[in-house]
Amino acid sequence: MAGITRLKGGRVYDPEHGIDGEVRDIYFCDGVIIAAPDQQTRIAREIDLTGKVVMAGAVDIHSHIAGGNVNTSRLITPDLRREHMMSTARRPGKWSARDTGRRYAQMGYTTVVEPAVLPSNALHAHMEMADIPIIDTAGLAVLGSDDFLLRLLRDKRGQQAVDDYVAWTLDATRCLGLKVINAGGASAFKFNARSLQLDEEVPYYGVSSRAILNALQMAVCKLNVPHPLHVHCNNLGLPGNVATTLATIEAANGLPMHLTHIQFHSYSDEGKHGFCSGAARIAEAINAASNITADVGQVLFGQTVTISGDVMRQYNARAVASPSKWVVSDIESEGGGGVIPYAYKGANFINTLQWAIGLELFLLVDDPWRIFFTTDSPNGAPFTRYPELVHLLMDADYRMSVLSSLNPEAAELSLLKDIKREYSLYDLAITTRAAAARSMGLTDRGHLGVGAIADIAVYSPQDDLTKMFARCAWLFKNGEAVVRDGEILSEPKGKMLSLTDFERTGIEQELQKYFDQYFTLKLKHFKVSTFLNSDPVMQRADQRFELSDSNRSHVN
Ligand SMILES: [Zn+2]
Repeated sequence: MAGITRLKGGRVYDPEHGIDGEVRDIYFCDGVIIAAPDQQTRIAREIDLTGKVVMAGAVDIHSHIAGGNVNTSRLITPDLRREHMMSTARRPGKWSARDTGRRYAQMGYTTVVEPAVLPSNALHAHMEMADIPIIDTAGLAVLGSDDFLLRLLRDKRGQQAVDDYVAWTLDATRCLGLKVINAGGASAFKFNARSLQLDEEVPYYGVSSRAILNALQMAVCKLNVPHPLHVHCNNLGLPGNVATTLATIEAANGLPMHLTHIQFHSYSDEGKHGFCSGAARIAEAINAASNITADVGQVLFGQTVTISGDVMRQYNARAVASPSKWVVSDIESEGGGGVIPYAYKGANFINTLQWAIGLELFLLVDDPWRIFFTTDSPNGAPFTRYPELVHLLMDADYRMSVLSSLNPEAAELSLLKDIKREYSLYDLAITTRAAAARSMGLTDRGHLGVGAIADIAVYSPQDDLTKMFARCAWLFKNGEAVVRDGEILSEPKGKMLSLTDFERTGIEQELQKYFDQYFTLKLKHFKVSTFLNSDPVMQRADQRFELSDSNRSHVN
């Protein structure tokens, strides 16, 4: 037993407990935060944090860190991975599992969710995540373009069959939640559709995108999955898609729904160039709909690579690939992915508006508990750029100075020049910690209350907020000091986070037959649990979270 550690005198930001910059001591022991012990109890270690900012370890709910598409990106962009993806001003980095963990830890992150685990790829995704040090990781399983689900809907097998299949999938893939990508789009693409509207039917199955969305959302609610259905809307990136996004918010029917990388879905087709911001309309709709949460998917300028399960969108965007190469793939008729390198440029009209739209959404959605901090890494920008985004949100003068250096026509159109709001440290702790953890049902983190794991980030205040958040002063992971003054001290294995067992149903027998008939992969090899205890790469702590009826209550 390591004994009790006392973090003394830091300014604490813990929104889950309403603590906004109070000077407080925090105690932890055996990796868990404890109440202040009495005077007689021996304190094994004391660290003076006077003048420092103290928050829970940050939680990223949407960052592509592992799995097939990430590896395809590495494969086709070896020239990018060194210079652009993981490097910081101070040093180069590799786009490797190891540097993913190290770079996140340096910024004070302790939990990251890979948001697009294709079920037949789940084993690979988990093996790769097991190789990422320090941070705990989880995945969201993708359904919606998979043949099995579309058959269930086509054959009108009823909501119960969908619920059983979703439960079985979350269990087999050991994921923390469910994602749908342009519902049905990857399937429609294979029948030569090049766009799919919410009320359009997926060819062959005769099932609309809306029906897929509604069935999956209902399943997530009925199964008590804590995180609402994670929705990548139809028509990503297209001018005028604001109408689709508003229709999707309507389609949620008041049930919980999370809209991901909403910046890419907030484009209006008005104006001289047929492209302008729809952020005000989206923010207004989110403000009015308490069942909706969103993450932004902020764009920052520079070279990156876009990774998406939206094969339809990626195929349509192949002409803008820079460098000029792209991959679109399909796996086991489940959907697949598209990978397109891309460089966002400040001189470019559209890129400038994309940058502005993301910030407008952050600043126009009133409630920081419902708008989360993401760049859809690496789609809008690699996660290594987060400190710059913090700076843009917290400092209006800095924001204006960057805006004035961008495409002047787009800058003139942007609403940003009239928005004075700045995020406080408390707001930042909400969007990057408390709200993110709460949304995922990760009750033991995102806050600093008694019983929480001792994942604690400490920052040294600096005028340059980019610098302040690039390298934390301390990071404790389960009470172990893993970063000091931005340097990695140790690289413990992170945990795999998933949901508790679902009730067993008979659907596995039907799936066994289906796999035997159609899949190249055997069902037992599809199930991640087959390998959890036998494969040395996979061996790491496995933490399963309780289901919660917070979503189900809306269904009844
Ligand atoms: Zn994404």
